[in-house]
Amino acid sequence: MSLHDQVMAEAARIQGLGETAGREARDPVNQPTINNWLEAMGNTNPRFAAGSGRGEAPPSMAQVWTMYGLGGKPPADDPLHGMMNVLTDAGYTAVLGTNCEQEYVRYLRVGEQVRVTTALDSVVGPKQTAMGEGYFVTSRSTWYVGSEVVATMLFRVLKYKPRSVVEERAPASVSKPETFVLRPMQNRDTEFFWDGTAAGELRIQSCNACGALRFPPGPACPDCGALDRGHVVASGRGTVFSYVVHRHPPVPGRDLPILIAVVDLEEGVRMVGELVNVEPDDIKIGMPVTVDFRRIDDDLTLPVWRTS
Ligand SMILES: [Zn+2]
Repeated sequence: MSLHDQVMAEAARIQGLGETAGREARDPVNQPTINNWLEAMGNTNPRFAAGSGRGEAPPSMAQVWTMYGLGGKPPADDPLHGMMNVLTDAGYTAVLGTNCEQEYVRYLRVGEQVRVTTALDSVVGPKQTAMGEGYFVTSRSTWYVGSEVVATMLFRVLKYKPRSVVEERAPASVSKPETFVLRPMQNRDTEFFWDGTAAGELRIQSCNACGALRFPPGPACPDCGALDRGHVVASGRGTVFSYVVHRHPPVPGRDLPILIAVVDLEEGVRMVGELVNVEPDDIKIGMPVTVDFRRIDDDLTLPVWRTS
């Protein structure tokens, strides 16, 4: 039996197990957790605020209720982790989240006890990707209150053999690191942004109904719910709100450390981006920065930040 056949046989076995027994949320849906989440997300929708009388939780909190908690570990029978171990043993050691689709059936209400099950939805591969050869593994989580389904999530990861490992074994095929770049996802919601960077403009999505600016881009206005959107061109000036110095893990094609900042734009939204002309010890919160554009190729120009 080939390695691929073994991987797919294990996938079929784990898929056949169906949903796990179900894991109870640590706490029932509760307003204090909703309050903290709203604050962390910058969500000011009065519908969910304490005292609104509705007692409903934002649907996108579904996963929050069943988080493992600090130091928590998935149960031994978790199908996603079972499949990941199979692929690790087969030499596909690296992992990259690729996409996540959530579906909300109804609002959760304060006091409800949530339970989550997990199942292995599909395993597809091997595929040749920019990251290396790998398998796409999709798991399906289902949230219940009693026997009622309240939300579902499909979560897909690429489990792959990192290119660098392949290159170490076959030095003749080593490519220049700068020829590889992790590419951001581009879709109908973000296209205007990447068209902007290619044209040397930093664009911020705006709501054509109420004028509110928002970042990251999305289909609907978080303030008024309108779908009609446009954009404004930012001045390109801002200040460092927060930052991280990324020293590990390795990033394909990049020398470390990389400095990543959350920038407060003059227009009132925040963006995450790389700070390119500063040493780690010299970064200061509040430091003024200006946008610059790094052209990668015809399809991609990345915004980066320099101290002004
Ligand atoms: Zn609006």
